[in-house]
Amino acid sequence: MISGTEDLSKRAASTMEAADRFAQQHLATNAAQWGKGLFDRRALFEPAGASGLLSLQVPIEFGGSGLSFGEKVKVLHKLARIDFSAAMALVNSHNVAAQLVKASPNVLAPLYVSNLIQGSVVACTALTEPDAGSDLGQIKTTAIRNGDGWLLNGSKTWIINAAHADGVVVYAQTKVGSGVKGIAAFFIRADSPGFERVTVATNSALSSMGIGGFRLTNVYCDSSHLLYGPGKAFVDIMGAINRARTYVAAMCCAMVSQALTDVSVYGHKRTAFGQSLDQYQGWRWQIAQAATALQAAELLVREACDLIDKGSEVQTAAAQAKLYATSMAQTQLGSLLHAMGAEGFLDRYAFLRHLTAAHTASLADGSTAMLLERVANDFRFKPGAI
Ligand SMILES: Cc1cc2nc3c(=O)[nH]c(=O)nc-3n(C[C@H](O)[C@H](O)[C@H](O)COP(=O)(O)OP(=O)(O)OC[C@H]3O[C@@H](n4cnc5c(N)ncnc54)[C@H](O)[C@@H]3O)c2cc1C
Repeated sequence: MISGTEDLSKRAASTMEAADRFAQQHLATNAAQWGKGLFDRRALFEPAGASGLLSLQVPIEFGGSGLSFGEKVKVLHKLARIDFSAAMALVNSHNVAAQLVKASPNVLAPLYVSNLIQGSVVACTALTEPDAGSDLGQIKTTAIRNGDGWLLNGSKTWIINAAHADGVVVYAQTKVGSGVKGIAAFFIRADSPGFERVTVATNSALSSMGIGGFRLTNVYCDSSHLLYGPGKAFVDIMGAINRARTYVAAMCCAMVSQALTDVSVYGHKRTAFGQSLDQYQGWRWQIAQAATALQAAELLVREACDLIDKGSEVQTAAAQAKLYATSMAQTQLGSLLHAMGAEGFLDRYAFLRHLTAAHTASLADGSTAMLLERVANDFRFKPGAI
């Protein structure tokens, strides 16, 4: 007889294999052309759904795999080695499916989760606005009571998947002047009257992230589509952001890990002055520096994953993992690209796409300044503490 735990570990193992296959068959084959701006969501979401990669943490009773956070992170690591941007697009849509189950298991989950985990419907999460990024309390999108529902007005920008999403979790202010306490979360369909997409023209290295924006003009949201009311929305999003910081850190490690593999293979076969590059101590030391920094970042990520899976406090651990891993990737991807010589600029490698991605990773889900402030708070002198 197979126990529940055995069942779960079998499911996790088969999802890991599916992630490896998907990365080779769909990401490795498409990433270079997506990196030139030729992205088509149908080549990403539906194949990912068919491979079970959009249902990782969705509970089994809703058609998902019910995996742990640590297992989800292992899957994202496999995808981000090949295309960080595509992995971010997938996990953002996946997260909305898991959020709908948690916030509205009887109303919204039955309506949308099945299509979200198949990849026929794509979703995103929208906090950032043209005039408010780090300072979330200053968002200007408003939600005003209207009969049994709400009327939403405002603009969002820099949203992953917004270029083609069918559904959006919109964070909006319900009481002007009340800061984060007044913010509520709404699930809005992109085919609602008054919903208008706004293009965000960005570097093509990010095209599989589907970055975009939108304007809401008197968009009506039925009360059934309110996900979290004022007060609760901010608490929920902070929990989600701590988890996101952890997987973004893991995905930065994945990019560096892939770069190290590529550099090691190339350095063994490329010769200069009569011997392979890896025979030169000066060349090898760059690789050793990168491998050591990667190991340190992976340990921080593992600690944060363990805390999340235990349900423990993770704010500082997640902030430190992301702080260290993003800056490690920003530095080491540049150094490893240099170690490749001109070869590293060829389309078949991810160095340039991933270097751009590492820089975006230091902004998404909390900029470096916000994370440093988070960590500094823990070390602030408190009178009477000593
Ligand atoms: C690739 C990418 C994907 C994204 N995806 C999403 C998404 O899906 N959904 C979403 O809602 N948002 C998304 N964002 C937006 C992201 O959350 C914001 O970029 C982030 O919150 C920072 O806001 P900002 O870019 O407006 O920078 P600002 O807040 O304007 O900050 C500009 C600079 O000043 C620094 N700074 C700000 N305040 C302080 C301070 N008090 N002290 C010192 N320095 C400070 C910041 O660190 C930054 O370096 C994404 C961004 C990127 C780049």
